Amino acid sequence: MKKVILVGGVAGGATAASQLRRLNPDIEIVIYERYEDISYGSCGMPYYIGGEVEERDSLVNMTPGKFRDKNIFVKTGHEVTSVNTDENTVTVLDKANNREITDSYDYLVLSPGGSPKKLPSVKDGEQVFSLHRLADLDYIMSYIEDNNVKEAVLIGSGYIGLEVTENLTAKGIHVTILQHDERIYKNIEADMNGVLYEAMTEHGITLKLNTEIDYVDGSQAVLSNGEKIDAELIITGVGISPNTGFLNNSGVSLKNGLIPINKNGQTNVKNIYALGDAAVTHYQHIPEITMQAALAWPAHRLAHIIANQISGDSSVTHEGFLGTNIVKFFDYHIATFGLSEKEVADVPHFVIDQKQKNKSGYMKGAAPIHVRVYVSTETGIILRAAVVGTEGVDKRIDILSAHTRLGGTVYDLINIEIGYSPPFSSPKDIINMVGYKAREKAENL
Ligand SMILES: Cc1cc2nc3c(=O)[nH]c(=O)nc-3n(C[C@H](O)[C@H](O)[C@H](O)COP(=O)(O)OP(=O)(O)OC[C@H]3O[C@@H](n4cnc5c(N)ncnc54)[C@H](O)[C@@H]3O)c2cc1C
Repeated sequence: MKKVILVGGVAGGATAASQLRRLNPDIEIVIYERYEDISYGSCGMPYYIGGEVEERDSLVNMTPGKFRDKNIFVKTGHEVTSVNTDENTVTVLDKANNREITDSYDYLVLSPGGSPKKLPSVKDGEQVFSLHRLADLDYIMSYIEDNNVKEAVLIGSGYIGLEVTENLTAKGIHVTILQHDERIYKNIEADMNGVLYEAMTEHGITLKLNTEIDYVDGSQAVLSNGEKIDAELIITGVGISPNTGFLNNSGVSLKNGLIPINKNGQTNVKNIYALGDAAVTHYQHIPEITMQAALAWPAHRLAHIIANQISGDSSVTHEGFLGTNIVKFFDYHIATFGLSEKEVADVPHFVIDQKQKNKSGYMKGAAPIHVRVYVSTETGIILRAAVVGTEGVDKRIDILSAHTRLGGTVYDLINIEIGYSPPFSSPKDIINMVGYKAREKAENL
């Protein structure tokens, strides 16, 4: 009987294990997870803070017991410390018993994710947390409760920072966001993120640009501008570093700490696969450019592919990602896919901007939506898209992303059929208008 070992038991690891069992009733499956929690929805954690997720345990999908019922063995509190690719073995630290064990595999699936980056200036404050694991959520919630927190500081303005800010605000906590430079949420174009500032003003959030914490003084933070602010709770959201140290000297190739994979989800070692936040791949529409999609859905897509590959179906392959993403900040929704602004600058392109209402303008609640696409001058493919607005952003980004994924050009958008009735769109939806404008622009290039 073949044996698969999975490293990491949350998004990628737990999903790959379930898929493997679905396809192979007989294969032996063991998951090593260094912490206690497995298979939970990290993405839902900010919404438990604000109350939109009512039950903490509803974030948990599978438990070791439920996996056991499927004959999948989960060893929590077990950290894989090294991999021997010649012997096909892993060395594992059983943390509770402080004992090292060796286990062997036919296939190894790596989904170790990343760890939040630490900021030296705040790392010793007892009120300093990051929201990455389920245990972090528990610490944060009890800290808020025990200390009746009313003032929080959020360091960083990535999507997790925005979601946590919204949910702390919903809980009645005043938030100050500190951004070390002059631009928040860099995933979206600087001239399209005005809605974020508007929402912060509307909801009483304080934003301090070009500001960092110098040091923490009790329940206060001393800032780089000399100011002292209340900081009963400090949450850092300044990115993650891949948990791939255990692969050093293993023979598994790393690129800037990330694990490159091929179309089968394989690393450079044939029987070792990787997925999730620690893996690096390429854009689906521009395969020459590498990309990392540190999001939940890519981990799920690759789990399916890797499980099929290991199960002997080599027809299910990975073609790269577009990196489609969306964030909600109060009433506003922001979504993008494709190359970053920096990357797109190196590819010959033209830009189409279109602003119009998300539904028929005469309808109550019709609201502006802004679509920007960067179109390859050579092929007409959308290299990057950005959409900002309220209701209807998700629909537009998903149409553009699916269209691009299937090889559609910007010019084909004139033929896209959008279900129309006044509460939903217009006879010429913003998607169609982008196509018309692109045709006109291309004719005049
Ligand atoms: C607050 C928050 C909100 C998010 N919201 C969204 C969202 O809205 N949409 C979206 O698409 N994505 C979202 N994400 C991102 C998404 O959760 C991650 O992309 C996804 O969890 C990555 O899966 P993974 O398996 O690579 O890593 P993880 O899910 O982090 O799992 C990795 C596991 O491996 C374990 N591990 C690491 N090293 C070892 C080792 N040596 N031995 C044993 N175990 C090890 C770790 O302890 C960890 O439990 C969010 C993440 C967070 C934190």
